[in-house]
Amino acid sequence: MQMSDETESENVEDRRGMGGPMAVGGGLGGLSIIGIIIFLIQGGDPKQILDKVQQQQGAQQGHVSAKQNDAEKVFVSKVLHLTEDVWEEQFREQGMRYKKPKLVVFNGVTNTACGQGESAMGPFYCPGDQQVYIDLDFFAELRKLTGTSADFARAYVIAHEVGHHVQNLMGYSQKVDSQRGRVSKEAMNQLSVRLELQADYLAGVWGYHANKQKKILEPGDIESGLQAAQGIGDDKLQQGAGRAVRPESFTHGTSKQREFFLKTGLQRGDASKKTLDYFFTVPYERLGRDFPE
Ligand SMILES: [Zn+2]
Repeated sequence: MQMSDETESENVEDRRGMGGPMAVGGGLGGLSIIGIIIFLIQGGDPKQILDKVQQQQGAQQGHVSAKQNDAEKVFVSKVLHLTEDVWEEQFREQGMRYKKPKLVVFNGVTNTACGQGESAMGPFYCPGDQQVYIDLDFFAELRKLTGTSADFARAYVIAHEVGHHVQNLMGYSQKVDSQRGRVSKEAMNQLSVRLELQADYLAGVWGYHANKQKKILEPGDIESGLQAAQGIGDDKLQQGAGRAVRPESFTHGTSKQREFFLKTGLQRGDASKKTLDYFFTVPYERLGRDFPE
């Protein structure tokens, strides 16, 4: 992807290095209160103390490891900004207002309105606080799972999560949630598949418009995105884990379906209600076999 001219989003919150055992009781970074008072009485500059505290807290909170990811954080931030531009435009065209989501970068565990978020869960969106959560280490996992963590593969991951935010604003998530506890587990899984495939499609719609606006895609980009989508289908993940493939347990769709909808979104760029409703009206067995004109 050609991203050097792109702007970073202002909506990224960096929580890396927070919440670990070393951060607890960091206090004033090893400076005693008495020491500080003596320092100030002797005419010391308070700023020096603040600098020292910040330095020590930085060291305690593991900012060293966080820095290694900074190129990735900048990339994610630029992708987030591109999603803001695209979805603001799409919502405006449909007479709606887009509310930008926050994206939280974290390590290990973090608090969310949806309960404790953990790296092992992979990137996720929490409708309760309208925030996307990602541990950047996931991209290494993505590479292991799919054979790629190239630019557009990573952008697809972010755009898919932002897709869940779009679904939340448009009311699709609520539609699915309202069925929880009222239908069978299997029926609930099917609704989840519909929602996840719609998020893949929305990631594609984003790619279509981001490229139209900013000419960010380069040869090989789309292929890496499709490879990633294909690599995280439920069937492939179950096989990869050495388990039997059980379609009734699918929550995200097959490799073929995920690839199909990302690709279709990239080709159509159509986020109209009529097209998005298709995901909840098409017979389940037909999902991914064809798409309305
Ligand atoms: Zn998802």
